[in-house]
Amino acid sequence: MRPVIIAGNWKLNGTIPETEVLIKGLLDGDSNNEAATVVVCPPYPSLSYAHQMVTGTHIALGAQDMSQHDKGAYTGEVSAEMLLTVGVRYVILGHSERRQHHAETDQLVNAKAKAALAAGLIPIICVGETLTEREAERTEEVVGGQLDGALAGLMTDQLRLSVLAYEPVWAIGTGKTATPEMAQAVHRFLRNRLAQNDPAAAEVVPILYGGSVKPGNAHELLSQPDIDGALVGGASLKAEDFVGIINAV
Ligand code: PEP
Repeated sequence: MRPVIIAGNWKLNGTIPETEVLIKGLLDGDSNNEAATVVVCPPYPSLSYAHQMVTGTHIALGAQDMSQHDKGAYTGEVSAEMLLTVGVRYVILGHSERRQHHAETDQLVNAKAKAALAAGLIPIICVGETLTEREAERTEEVVGGQLDGALAGLMTDQLRLSVLAYEPVWAIGTGKTATPEMAQAVHRFLRNRLAQNDPAAAEVVPILYGGSVKPGNAHELLSQPDIDGALVGGASLKAEDFVGIINAV
């Protein structure tokens, strides 16, 4: 059985007072669904405060990125160890916005994944094609290449601890969602690709779908056999909507 994970990527949203309101909304709302692991990923400055709020609750903490380095002259960077000290358990890596705005490559995502796993964080590794790539029927080539690149050289036990997220770039923040059938087809492709290297990993690694997931479409997406949860952007910023998605599991 793979765990079902509903993770909220707050992106560049969430001052400490806003974090307090949002997490309080999740704790007061009906967000404790035993069928799902709930993860919130606020910006770095809010992590410590968020940790105090979620300690002892059903909510786990994630970060939106991290450095591949442990320490040193890397201005602006945050290490895996630093994240661990503020209670972070998950870290989103290779989000398309990092790839697009910060020129992150598969090689860099791979280095970050190795650093995260070595430190004891669970990476949520994102892959996804642009609209141009989909229209050119290159989806499998693109996401397959991203998957291979991000996971290159991971040890078997590390691979089996990882989480993947399929996030078609054209569906992120656009209100356009992949149909459940489209998403399922790519999730199945990714699972088969994992199985080529490690059949056991293909059985246990959760693959989340991300891209305009809302309470109204979550159930159908999450009912697909290879969709093991959701990575949620916009709808994770409203407690009511995020709770609606959690309860769609
Ligand atoms: C995301 O940023 O990971 C995401 C899926 O965003 P949204 O839900 O807003 O499309």
